[in-house]
Amino acid sequence: MAVSPRHDTPASRIAELRNLLERANRAYYVDASPVMSDAEFDRLLAELTELEKAHPDLDDPDSPTKRVGGEPIDGFTTITHARPMLSIDNTYTEGDVREWYARVLKGLGLAEGGLFAGGTVACVCDPKIDGLAVSLRYERGRLKHAVTRGDGVKGDDVSHAARVIRALPLVLGARAPEVLEVRGEVYLPLDQFARINAEREEAGEELFMNPRNAAAGTLKNLDPTLIASRRLGFIAHGRGEASEGFASGYWEFLSRLREMGFPTSPHALQAAGVEEILKAIHGFEAGRHGLNYATDGMVVRVDSFAQQEQLGLTSKSPRWVIAFKYPAERTTTRLLRVEPQVGKTGKITPRAVMEPVVLAGTTVQHATLHNYGRVLKSPLNPDAPGGETTDIRIGDTVYVEKAGEIIPQVVGVVIAKRPENAARVVAPAACPVCASVVEVEPPEAEAEPTLETARRCINPECPAQIREKLVWFAGRKQMDIDGLGEKTVDQIIASGTIPLRTFADIFRLKDHRAALLSLERMGEKKVDNLLAGIEDAKSRGLAKVLSGMGIRHVGDTTSKLLARRYESLDALMAASVRDLMPNAKLSKDEAARLGVATEAPGGQETSLGKDTAGIVHAYLHSPAAKKTFAELGAAGVDLKSKDYRPPTTAGAAKGPFAGKTIVLTGTLTGYEREDLKALLEGLGAKVSGSVSSKTNLLVAGESAGSKLDKARELGVEVWDEAKLIDALREAGVDAPRPPTG
Ligand SMILES: [Zn+2]
Repeated sequence: MAVSPRHDTPASRIAELRNLLERANRAYYVDASPVMSDAEFDRLLAELTELEKAHPDLDDPDSPTKRVGGEPIDGFTTITHARPMLSIDNTYTEGDVREWYARVLKGLGLAEGGLFAGGTVACVCDPKIDGLAVSLRYERGRLKHAVTRGDGVKGDDVSHAARVIRALPLVLGARAPEVLEVRGEVYLPLDQFARINAEREEAGEELFMNPRNAAAGTLKNLDPTLIASRRLGFIAHGRGEASEGFASGYWEFLSRLREMGFPTSPHALQAAGVEEILKAIHGFEAGRHGLNYATDGMVVRVDSFAQQEQLGLTSKSPRWVIAFKYPAERTTTRLLRVEPQVGKTGKITPRAVMEPVVLAGTTVQHATLHNYGRVLKSPLNPDAPGGETTDIRIGDTVYVEKAGEIIPQVVGVVIAKRPENAARVVAPAACPVCASVVEVEPPEAEAEPTLETARRCINPECPAQIREKLVWFAGRKQMDIDGLGEKTVDQIIASGTIPLRTFADIFRLKDHRAALLSLERMGEKKVDNLLAGIEDAKSRGLAKVLSGMGIRHVGDTTSKLLARRYESLDALMAASVRDLMPNAKLSKDEAARLGVATEAPGGQETSLGKDTAGIVHAYLHSPAAKKTFAELGAAGVDLKSKDYRPPTTAGAAKGPFAGKTIVLTGTLTGYEREDLKALLEGLGAKVSGSVSSKTNLLVAGESAGSKLDKARELGVEVWDEAKLIDALREAGVDAPRPPTG
C-alpha cells in the first residue's frame, strides 16, 4: 500500500489530483482532445478515492470521485424552473425558414417600410441534438441542481445523475457569475448506445429503441453507478436565469460557457441573413451522420439578447428561435420473410429479411423486429407511435428506420400497399434449431399474444445456444481467443469427432491436435496458432471469464465491477446477495423476497443494482454455473481477478486488524497520522478518535496522555509503535518509514 511521503501533504495531493482529473474531463468533453488515456485516468481516480477516504475532512461533493456513482436516490422531487423552458417551433421546409426570418425582420423594424429597413439580423445556427433537455443551476460557481424540462414549468430533480456526467463541470471557477442557469442536451453517444444495446441483447433484455430513449432511461435511473457507467454526453444550448451582464448575445454566451468548461457544439455557426442561415442548414446535413450523437435538425436563433427580448414570445414559444427538422432517415421496402434467430441465452428474435434498400448511406436488407409481440402491433403511422396498429405480414411494404443511425428496424406498415395474399408471421412454437419447447415472457402473453416481450428456447443443450455461447466466449471483448472465430467453431462442431460443447472443451482442444489437423484448411501452422491462442486465453482473469460466460445481466461493465471487488471466484462465491449490492436501498417487499435488510450498508465504490444482484447471485450458485467454474478451473483457467482493488475502508476480511476499532494517540515517529489511519483502514480496521469500551486497540506514541490512561482504565490492549510496525510487517505491509529514534 502506498503512503504519501511527508513533503507531499494529503491536502495538496488531493487538490492536485482533482485539478488533473477535471482538466482531463475538460480536454475530453469540451476540447475533444484527450490528454490522458482511460487507464491513466482510472489510476489517478483510484488514488484520489483512496486519499479522500483517508481524509474525510477534505471531502468535497464536487470532487471527480463523486462522478463514478454513489448512493441511489429514493425517487424524484419536482423543482420549478426559475424561467420556464419553452418549446421551440419546428419547421420542415426552406419556405418556413424564409417566412420566420421575414417575421423577425418585421418584428425588429427592419422590414421594408420599417424604421431601419434593409438591415440583416445576426443569427446563430447550432445542431439540434436528439437527447433530453435539462436545466443546470449554478450558484456562486457551484452546481446547485439539475432539472429535466418536464412540462416546461417544472421538472424532475436529476442532480444525482448530473453529478456523474463527466461532461458537465461541477465548479465554474472564480469568474463565474452569482447565478447561472445553463440549458442543454444530455445525450447518449452512439458508440455507447451500440455497446449498451449489444450488452442488453446478450443479457436477454429489451433493447432501447433509440439513443434518446436510452438517455432518458439513464437519466431517470435512480442508481448513480449505473448512470456513470453509461458515459452520457452534454452540449449546452441555452440560458435560463443569469446574473446581469454575463453576455449580450448567444454567440458570446456560448464562448463564455466554453471558457468555464461547458461543452458547446463545435458545429455552431454565425449566420447573417436568411441565405447564410439556409447555407448553414444544408451544410450541416451532409456530415451529420458522421457524428457520435444523433441530430435531427438545426436550431436557428437571433443572436442578440436585446433583439430576442424585443421579439418576445407567443403563447407557447419564443418568436426569436426556430428549429429546422431534417427529413427522417426512413425508407420503405418489401418484407420478404421473417427468420427466427436463436441467441446464446436462448432468446428467439424475429429478424426481417427485406428487399435491399439504401438507408442513410448504406444498403440494408435485414432489420430487427424486436420480438413477436411487437410484430403484432406495428404502428400504421410511425410518426404517431401511440396510434392505430396492425400486425406485420409477409409481403407488406414496411417503413424501415435506423435507430440511432445504427440498427435498422421496422417501424411501421404501409397498410394501403398490403397484398391480398399477405401471410401472417407465425411465432415458432418450438425452437427452430433444437425443436425444444419455448417459453413465452411474460406468462400473460400466452392468452394475449400482443403482450409478448420475449420467447426463449429453454433447452440448455440447444446447439444454437451452445454455438452462440462458444463464439461469444472466444470473442475479442471476452476471452479474446486468437484463431477461434465463428467459422472455426462451426467447422469443429460440424466435424462431429472433436467434442466442443462447453467452455472447458475449448481448453481441451489440445488433446485433439490430430483431429484438428484433419479438418479442411487447417494446416499445421493454423492449428498451432489456435492452440497457442487458447493457452494464452487461460490467463485473462475473472472479469473476462464472467463476461465470456454470457450470464444474463452480466455484461462487460458488471463483470469488471465484480472483479474489482472480489479478488477471486472463491471470494465472489462467498459473497451474499446483500454483499453484491451494498449501495442498494430496498423496499420492505424487496428485502423480504431476498431475505436481507432494507437499509444499505453502503460505503462501497461499486455495487450491483437490486434487480441485478438477485439474478446474478442465483445464477452463480446454480448447479450449471458451479459445474462450469469447476471445469474451467480444472482446465487451468485463471479465476483470479486482475481488476481487484483492495478495499480502502472496513471490509478486508483477513489479518490482525480486520474488524478492529483502533485509536491512535501520542506522537508517532514513523508515520503521518493520516497515512497510518488510511493504512489501517485499508487492512479492515476502523480508526476512531476516542477511547471507549468498543475500542480494541490503542496505539500509543511518545507523550501519550489521557487516552492512554483511559485505555488502561478500560483494559484496552495498548501497543507501542515498534509493536505496530512488527504487526504491519507480519500482515505483509512494509512500514513506510521505520522509526529513527
Ligand atoms: Zn433450441
